[in-house]
Amino acid sequence: MPETRRLIYDLDLPELQAVLTSWGEPAFRAKQVWQGIYRSLWSQPGQFSNLSKQLRERLDAEFSFQALKPGAVLQSTDGETVKTLFTLPDEKAIEAVLMRYESRRTLCISTQAGCAMGCVFCATGQMGFLRHLSSGEIVEQVLYYARQLKEQGEAVTNIVVMGMGEPFHNYENTLAAIDRLNHPEGMNLGARRFTISTVGLIPMIRRFAEENRQVNLAISLHAAEDSLRSSLLPVNRKYPLLDLLAACREYVEKTGRRITFEWALIRDVNDTPEEARRLAALLKGLLCHVNVIPLNPTNKYRGQATTHERAVAFCAELEKAGIPATIRIRRGIDIQAGCGQLATENQRRSQSIEG
Ligand code: SAH
Ligand code: SF4
Repeated sequence: MPETRRLIYDLDLPELQAVLTSWGEPAFRAKQVWQGIYRSLWSQPGQFSNLSKQLRERLDAEFSFQALKPGAVLQSTDGETVKTLFTLPDEKAIEAVLMRYESRRTLCISTQAGCAMGCVFCATGQMGFLRHLSSGEIVEQVLYYARQLKEQGEAVTNIVVMGMGEPFHNYENTLAAIDRLNHPEGMNLGARRFTISTVGLIPMIRRFAEENRQVNLAISLHAAEDSLRSSLLPVNRKYPLLDLLAACREYVEKTGRRITFEWALIRDVNDTPEEARRLAALLKGLLCHVNVIPLNPTNKYRGQATTHERAVAFCAELEKAGIPATIRIRRGIDIQAGCGQLATENQRRSQSIEG
């Protein structure tokens, strides 16, 4: 039977308060429910031992507590990275990844099923756009892992919005999800622990700058001149580099916050010292940091990962020009923890079964 109940994680605290007072409950009741969800990390109404049986039953009748059905789980060989594929009520698939690194427990979460931006090297882009996730569907990815970690006496420490989808194409739901996880009476994950990565939607970068949040911003650059960037990231035709960089400079001026630029190193495409020098010139004087990641090869794109030596040389060229740069190892490459790859594999498998 199709789900008709509202997903409870789609509500913010005032909305939950409005519902519960309309049921004749006292004002403090919503906070009890809120804390049950976001502090005690209860996953079904039956666990709410602080509520009457009658109220638990009403919650169950009116709200769904689960939109994400966990399916395939992949673990990296070192066991430190876990990726879970979830099925949504409409059978679309998304994924979220947990990465353990020293004391950090970082989640990489999705904001859309598929993506409309069509970046040629990206498995999610290759799928096309399916739909936006609701704020609650974004939140539930975090709750899922938070519950698991709690059983091991651990907690989520950081969240990167770098899974499937373009978060600034689903701006409101993404920011609403962060607000929900950030709420002091709930999970209370500090704003600085979040990083949103965008392909570079300029109007949304401006809007985000206006909001003056403590959330970190990352921009996927991948090329330092327009023709190359447009061939890799079609959105560059609409929002070309100089305009994008101008918006980034405005952001840094307004917020005083450093921007991270992401650069997937593709062998012989954007991994040359000349390209590094072009990038350095573009970023000159900007409060920023560059993260380079060797490309994670995908089926529908012929590009290859750069070598480690060339990645080191690329970073050295940036450092020489005074631009801080770090090579990120792609964690969980053996479990296809690259953007969108698990869901694509799954789609392919079911397509081949069907046809
Ligand atoms: N849509 C947002 C966030 C999700 S993608 C964005 O594009 O920024 C997260 C990061 O993974 C982006 O920097 C993206 O360019 C990068 N990425 C996508 N596919 C990749 C691949 N095959 N190899 C390396 N990085 C990839
Ligand atoms: Fe979308 Fe980001 Fe993939 Fe581009 S890299 S297609 S914006 S998810």
